[in-house]
Amino acid sequence: MVKVRCKLVSWDEVVEWCRQLSLKIKESGWSPDTIVAIARGGYVPARLLCDFLDIHELLSVQVLHWGKAAEITAKAHVKYPLKVNLSGKKVLLVDDIADTGDSIIVAKEHLESECKPSEIKVATMQWISPVCKIKPDYYVDEVKEWIWYQYPWTRLEDTTQFITKMLDEEGKKKKEWTLEEIVEKFKEWYGIDVGKSYYELALEILVGEGKLKKRTRDREVVYEL
Ligand code: AMP
Repeated sequence: MVKVRCKLVSWDEVVEWCRQLSLKIKESGWSPDTIVAIARGGYVPARLLCDFLDIHELLSVQVLHWGKAAEITAKAHVKYPLKVNLSGKKVLLVDDIADTGDSIIVAKEHLESECKPSEIKVATMQWISPVCKIKPDYYVDEVKEWIWYQYPWTRLEDTTQFITKMLDEEGKKKKEWTLEEIVEKFKEWYGIDVGKSYYELALEILVGEGKLKKRTRDREVVYEL
């Protein structure tokens, strides 16, 4: 039984979703002057939208909300504000996904009060409609059942946190793990396979942080909790 439902997203899918998003924006007849990315998730989609829409002004505002993979760690708030005058500008506010919608709400209110643009529209690749407090003006996928999108730009971070969560639980019964056993259990817990190099890098991080010990048992490398 999968513990956290995940979708493994490829770089190609991201490019395709952003291309589709740009078409929807063009077809609507609205054209932004400036793009504001919500950091960090909105960075890559915002940059791709600049390319597809030929926009040369890209700014960003950092909002903290989901500090860990699939875990809300703080009430959404602006960490690094944007203090520029955008009066008279049409702004496209971009994030990867609208989940609770809180990050977008906070970022939008911040832009309205601090930057005073003439108009703000919101674009995301995914919109989790049953739980989201807002509806983006432009989106590609309406997601009807909550799922964690494992985007390529958070692959190592997510893998490290997912392994930690998994071993905290599974480690109550079993203290020593081979790489193969970790990979198998990871697929069972999350339903995705992020690839060998990511498991290895994540395990190196956990060993470096002292959360796991790496040693050799009968000529085989094992990770010990
Ligand atoms: P939210 O404020 O809940 O709309 O989400 C804030 C940010 O957290 C998003 O822009 C993503 O970067 C990340 N995030 C939230 N939910 C998900 C999800 N289901 N899958 C992947 N990333 C997510």
